[in-house]
Amino acid sequence: MPTNPETHYDPEMGEKFIFVTGGVMSGLGKGITAASTGRLLANAGFDVTAVKIDPYLNVDAGTMNPYQHGEVYVLKDGGEVDLDLGNYERFLGVDMTSDHNVTTGKAYKNVIEKERAGDYLGKTVQIIPHITDEIKRRIREAAEGHDVCIVEVGGTVGDIESMPFLEALRQFATEQDDEDFLLTHVTLVPYSKNGEQKTKPTQHSVKELRSIGLQPDVLVGRCDDELEPATKEKIALFCDVPTDAVFSNPDVEDIYYVPLVVEEEGLDEYVMHRLGLAERAISDAERDNEWRELVTQETKGEVDIALVGKYALEDAYMSIHEALKHAGLEKNVDVNVLWVDADEMDDAHEERLKEADGIVVPGGFGSRGTQGKIEAVRYARENDVPYLGLCLGFQMAVVEYARNVLGLEGANTAEADADTPHPVIDILPEQYEIEDMGGTMRLGAHETEIEPNTLASEVYGATECTERHRHRYEVNPEYFDDFDGSDLVFSGRAGNRMEILELDSHPYFFGTQFHPEFRSRPGRASPPFVGLLEAVLNDTELREEVEV
Ligand code: GLN
Repeated sequence: MPTNPETHYDPEMGEKFIFVTGGVMSGLGKGITAASTGRLLANAGFDVTAVKIDPYLNVDAGTMNPYQHGEVYVLKDGGEVDLDLGNYERFLGVDMTSDHNVTTGKAYKNVIEKERAGDYLGKTVQIIPHITDEIKRRIREAAEGHDVCIVEVGGTVGDIESMPFLEALRQFATEQDDEDFLLTHVTLVPYSKNGEQKTKPTQHSVKELRSIGLQPDVLVGRCDDELEPATKEKIALFCDVPTDAVFSNPDVEDIYYVPLVVEEEGLDEYVMHRLGLAERAISDAERDNEWRELVTQETKGEVDIALVGKYALEDAYMSIHEALKHAGLEKNVDVNVLWVDADEMDDAHEERLKEADGIVVPGGFGSRGTQGKIEAVRYARENDVPYLGLCLGFQMAVVEYARNVLGLEGANTAEADADTPHPVIDILPEQYEIEDMGGTMRLGAHETEIEPNTLASEVYGATECTERHRHRYEVNPEYFDDFDGSDLVFSGRAGNRMEILELDSHPYFFGTQFHPEFRSRPGRASPPFVGLLEAVLNDTELREEVEV
């Protein structure tokens, strides 16, 4: 997929802002609608960035349980952020920084720190104007130098938590020229029992917006199907927008189709006209079609990959699902993910593990599920099943090898067993005195040196790679000698840190201490994931099935 074009930012024009709010209920796909709008503007030649606002008090997503908010996405600067940022990076093909995720916690923390430093010179510090000013400042800074900045306000209009942000948005709207600001409101259009599209929830949520001084410019209706013309007219009439500012966003099989669907609806053209961008846009004929070609290509078959984790929730492993999809796009196959519960590996789950063409063990924290992950590693190692271990999945491969091949009985990661006789994985030396759980990990992009003539050098096609990290534990240097001369080779290192492992006598057994999934993009799939699928497709039986 194309990355954003070189910025041709025009200082005369300034930055254009598209704010996106959501009504009726959460989980509507507001982020995907926003990211799709961004993708289309990027296709038309604009440099697009995004800001995600999360109205929770956590300073960042690092300490949040994946069951509640899905995976913690890691940025190159080490920012631990909401998974929506991952969608923006993948849809826009850009790398963002922590400044692009504004939380209530971040805004308040900064204001309170300034207050303690005496910066407010004796004034009473208040939500309006101090917090709202801080929010506006952060948004403007993140947008600086880009043609368009999409600002997604998390939560639903009417939530108490969102109030300071919506007030900041209201002020923002009055401070901007009309041509530089647009408010898109995404709502739900449900069906009644007799199959009629209902607009009342949309009307109510727009009323709610209006009561706080905000009038949407564009309305996007999330619905099972396309909105009927009569539905659009009714929404337009009751919500005071032109009919051609009401768009459908029907359910589609895959989120990557959403840009195509909203393009067909004309959302991008409307937005560009409204923001005065139409004249600067690349002509229809010359627009970048790579996204469309990529996501609509015919695939040659399907492969099954087992994902052995502990959260039975797709969002908890979103970037891995996406990275597998990207590798599938590159290799022209559909990837079917088989969920295997590492914590309760009953017969059904074991069966699924054995059915799979390849196995992925993802990252994770704590001891729950580690035994199941070790069993999955063993199965992959002993049966020549292509294996990819990510972070904890890398560590589990080290533990499994230490136990079952090197004979280090009871070997473990100190995270799962503090009293293990062989802590082959142990806490990072510089982390011995952890007091705070927030921000104590090795985070973000770090370079790894790759040993030439190894599987790793083949996979990456290079002698170094820079990938994102999020871990506290790593291979214990005291055990390096035990692995020396064995079949398990550490083929990627960063100084004294082991970053990549592979097994010499296995078709594809690859582990990374880092998380390559965070840099995977449609059209720029992550090498270890592509390697996994290549190994799966090299299996002769499958090759026939898949016709590669
Ligand atoms: N819990 C392990 C560590 O802290 C692995 C982390 C992960 O998988 N992201 O090192």
